[in-house]
Amino acid sequence: MINHLTNPVFKTISEIVTEASTPAFVIGGFVRDAILGRPSKDIDIVVLGSGIDLAKKVAEHLSPKPTVSYFKNFGTAMIKYRDLEIEFVGARKESYRRDSRKPIVEDGTLDDDQKRRDFTINALAIQLNRENYGKLIDPFNGIQDMESKIIRTPLEPDTTFSDDPLRMMRAIRFATQLNFKIEEDTLKSIKRNAARISIVSAERIIDEVNKMVMSPKPSIGFMLLHTTGLLNEIFPEMDRLKGVDSHNGLKHKDNFYHTLQVLDNVAERSDNLWLRWAAILHDIAKPQTKKFVKGIGWSFHAHEFIGAKMVPGIFKRLKLPLNTEMKYVRKLVQLHLRPQALAKEVTDSAVRRLLFDAGDDVDDLMLLCEADITSKNEDRVRKHLSNFEKVREKLKEIEEKDQIRNFKPPISGELIMETFGLTPSKPVGEIKDYIKDAILDGIIGNNYEEAYELMIKRAKELGYDPV
Ligand code: ATP
Repeated sequence: MINHLTNPVFKTISEIVTEASTPAFVIGGFVRDAILGRPSKDIDIVVLGSGIDLAKKVAEHLSPKPTVSYFKNFGTAMIKYRDLEIEFVGARKESYRRDSRKPIVEDGTLDDDQKRRDFTINALAIQLNRENYGKLIDPFNGIQDMESKIIRTPLEPDTTFSDDPLRMMRAIRFATQLNFKIEEDTLKSIKRNAARISIVSAERIIDEVNKMVMSPKPSIGFMLLHTTGLLNEIFPEMDRLKGVDSHNGLKHKDNFYHTLQVLDNVAERSDNLWLRWAAILHDIAKPQTKKFVKGIGWSFHAHEFIGAKMVPGIFKRLKLPLNTEMKYVRKLVQLHLRPQALAKEVTDSAVRRLLFDAGDDVDDLMLLCEADITSKNEDRVRKHLSNFEKVREKLKEIEEKDQIRNFKPPISGELIMETFGLTPSKPVGEIKDYIKDAILDGIIGNNYEEAYELMIKRAKELGYDPV
């Protein structure tokens, strides 16, 4: 295991702990990632003694000398050195009460410390003292599980998950990130304990979900969340997408699988977490808008508008950010059918409206819409994609010609009020929209003179003269 300790900082720590005859180990995520060939900058050191004292000594020996930040209550210390974050902690033993994630913590042995870890692949330790430098301590066969690509708890899974239910989310997150399977008993235990996730804070849950969403194939995680019952606990609106109704043998597609496919499609093409969330939420209102309409078939009328209305509430509850990120997702959900509608008939005016409504997010919207084509019929997919290509060309052409993307109508509400002596009222909005529509429909140019003239004309029709 020595070849995983190439960073010179390990030698420095080794000399100090050997001198002091204090056993110390690198443990957890760093060891796991080193063995999997995933470079990591977070190093956790466990010492059979004081983590804070060791951190201080190590800092003395490094140049430039880093500052040590420590949390006396937890007995942990952290130093940032070059691009590394090194955390030092005394080995500990944890015991839990049923109603809380907060453990009772005591000093412990290395074995105690490994037992309190969540998964066998996260419980590996490598010794740093000279006499055993590089020795792997793997009491739960973590290496074997890594080779078989398995997530398994070191202790009886009901104990591990009941002690800290966040670990159920972590199991699914690691399975998704690493493309590992969750071992059968571990998976069954998650199903049994799913309801206990309620004692975990929304912030910690969403951290895990977002790591899952940022994985190469996020559908793995959502499938597991669904089959274990966790999805119903943490995000029931998404769980409700699952299922197919049939009317006289006519079925609609399963919107859960469809959403996952769209999400994976987006994930293949973009690292934007919020575009991935737009994929997750694009059809979120399908269950409540579902209707069988005679002569037409299954319809989900207005699901894009109702879905967009659901976005703020979902973001708030899941503790996702409520400013620009939420507004971006809400906008994409609301607009997600527009390019498809456009593909049927690409008029200049419809393209200008889309550019106006989507603004700078129009490229992301196009990507989402292309990802939304999940038909198994290859001809149909090809036809849709070639229609989208036409829409893209038209978007480019109109954008170059009219620069609508960040268009602000040349006549403001203030000017309208000033010109006609109006207070903020309905006619002001009406005149303003009339001018905006005329520009987007190409009836007048996007300039002040023509807009001013139209303002006077429209106001007159409504019975107002300039004052
Ligand atoms: P990542 O760096 O990808 O977020 P990680 O597990 O390597 O994941 P941390 O979350 O910082 O990073 O955890 C470091 C180590 O601490 C883990 O490898 C594991 O041994 C242990 N650990 C973290 N959270 C828990 C938990 N909830 N229960 C038990 N052990 C945990």
